[in-house]
Amino acid sequence: MSKPILTIVVPCYNEEEVLPETVFQLSEVLDSLITDQLIAPNSTVLFVDDGSKDATWSLIERFHLANSFITGLKLAKNAGHQSALLAGLLQAKEYSDCVVSIDADLQDDTSVIREFIKKFHEGYDIVYGIRQDRSADTLFKRATAQGFYKLMTSLGVKIHYNHADFRLMSKRTLDNLEKFQEVNLFLRGLVPLLGFPSTQVYYDRKERFAGESKYPLRKMLAFAFDGITSFSVTPIRLVTVMGFMLFALSVVAAIYAIVGKLLGANVTGWTSLILSVWFIGGVQLLAIGLIGEYIGKIYKEVKQRPLFVIEKELREHTLADETAN
Ligand code: UDP
Ligand code: MG
Repeated sequence: MSKPILTIVVPCYNEEEVLPETVFQLSEVLDSLITDQLIAPNSTVLFVDDGSKDATWSLIERFHLANSFITGLKLAKNAGHQSALLAGLLQAKEYSDCVVSIDADLQDDTSVIREFIKKFHEGYDIVYGIRQDRSADTLFKRATAQGFYKLMTSLGVKIHYNHADFRLMSKRTLDNLEKFQEVNLFLRGLVPLLGFPSTQVYYDRKERFAGESKYPLRKMLAFAFDGITSFSVTPIRLVTVMGFMLFALSVVAAIYAIVGKLLGANVTGWTSLILSVWFIGGVQLLAIGLIGEYIGKIYKEVKQRPLFVIEKELREHTLADETAN
């Protein structure tokens, strides 16, 4: 097999503090893979600036001029991690044989990219990076993540435990991923649906190299909820089951009340009446809200608004400069 062109896609949102180190480490990785003849010399790193408010883009521009491995894509505004990642993946697949996605903060072990490439040479289209040791994450993050994977699996969604978005994908995988056209994007759920030959590589997750997490609890919960409702209609089915159970319960209560009345018992029932009115009202609102969430998703999907807007691209500057002259 001839040497594949690799592009490493890195979504960045306000990452000026880590960027220099990320550039350094990823350039080292490309350099050594090229030296060992595992990838083509024109392999690159593509930094996707997701509408950062700090100096992220100007740093990317500077690194691009100084380092031939570094290319950049600037989104016109913040599109969110998943959309920024998709923007980078779809751009990179146009000129790459395989693409590795990794976060900018160096939590994922860059040296594992070598293993990814070896697996690609063995014929795998998708290589999932799996976090083995998560002790660098807080107990809360680990517990919620574990709960989330369990919930997803029990709802029948095929998802890889402890895999975030650190993975390798071949060009044909990405060509097929592009067909999905989902506005409610949850990439780690979509990729396993493609069904190409895949394997896993284990690594230890480190702490963020610098800067703060761009995923506060609020965003994390929204992301998890989005993942569930994008891949499973089981929650709606549970509403039906709940309705059925409440109905069965009301039949029992009715029999109790009628028999009591016939036997001449003094049924006052104010407490049970007011409680059931509140309870049923609450359950109904919850059910309507849940169904509303799904309708909201349909609404978003139907509009098919683009997930990102590309403002600028930095690639092969020497070529572009020459043609301009
Ligand atoms: N990110 C992004 N857009 C956003 C939020 C985050 O491109 O709106 C990037 C961020 O720069 C990082 C990656 O997504 O490269 C993961 O974010 P982070 O490390 O903050 O998440 P955590 O690891 O804490 O879950
Ligand atoms: Mg991180």
